[in-house]
Amino acid sequence: VKKIAVLTSGGDSQGMNAAVRAVVRSALYRGIEVYGIQRGYQGLLNQDLRPMDLRSVGDIIQRGGTILQTARCKEFMTAEGQQRGAEVLREQGIDGLIVIGGDGSYHGANKLSKLGIKTMGLPGTIDNDIAFTDFTIGFDTAVSIVVEAINKLRDTMTSHERSSVVEVMGRHCGDIALYAGLASGAEAILVPEVPFDLKEISLRMKDNFQKGKRHGIVVVAEGAGTGEEVAKNIIEYSGIEPRVTVLGHIQRGGTPTHNDRILASRLADYAVQRLIEGDSAKGIGIIKGEFVATDIDKVVSTKKTFNLDLYNLALRLAQ
Ligand code: ATP
Repeated sequence: VKKIAVLTSGGDSQGMNAAVRAVVRSALYRGIEVYGIQRGYQGLLNQDLRPMDLRSVGDIIQRGGTILQTARCKEFMTAEGQQRGAEVLREQGIDGLIVIGGDGSYHGANKLSKLGIKTMGLPGTIDNDIAFTDFTIGFDTAVSIVVEAINKLRDTMTSHERSSVVEVMGRHCGDIALYAGLASGAEAILVPEVPFDLKEISLRMKDNFQKGKRHGIVVVAEGAGTGEEVAKNIIEYSGIEPRVTVLGHIQRGGTPTHNDRILASRLADYAVQRLIEGDSAKGIGIIKGEFVATDIDKVVSTKKTFNLDLYNLALRLAQ
């Protein structure tokens, strides 16, 4: 491998820039040329790529979003699109590609590897829904944003002795709700992975208010229901009228935490090393501090295990 490329794809996440920076600088450090592809697989098909030098990734480690931009590309879902993508890379003499993105983006990387392009996937998504890594790039920052928002809500809730339902991102994976809920002392954490009983939760909140609690926070992952639906149920079962806050896309923006920057830098550097060694079609992760390279096939067909210990801890502490 003499020349590689990097792209970001799917939903953006904080720390993608830190990953792009690390791919570029790590490759150049090892004497490998590196190209940046603009707008994900769409940009690949449009031949929207340029050589990156050391300075091209200056002043971005602290920025959210992605300087390479990202896109969703239907054409790349077809066999012809993938073939064309591989040809574009080959025409430029590029024999390795690092894809930073989620599940769908990993599928794309896998297809390219079957067409002779060596690929590596880096987990770039706030949802933490990729298997074979403890954390994905952006998750730590997203959780921090939710915790900060809940801190602010708590101030005003306590003053008014009110409760809040906070809807956070996570369609299939409740990790943002779990980590943010535990860190902010939520009374209930609703996630798609664990069944819950809104009647029991509502009555518990009512009881807690009667015992002197001055606020109540319910965090709901979007995959477990909407904030409005949950609030309606709480009103019906307990008479408590919670305020609903939907945090939405602010969870995906802002400056990445040091954890996300370090994770992105480490994963990217390792992915470059593996590519240079000739490895391909691997999703890179860190589990318990150790690098792990897992076949992309296996990564995309495995559901991330939900941390029930943390979930139960949050429940025990929410009295
Ligand atoms: P996130 O879920 O965090 O938004 P993602 O990477 O899963 O990120 P997707 O929109 O699912 O986001 O995928 C991004 C792009 O990857 C798609 O627009 C498409 O170009 C490509 N892609 C997705 N699935 C496949 C597939 N099965 N085969 C080839 N390419 C795919």
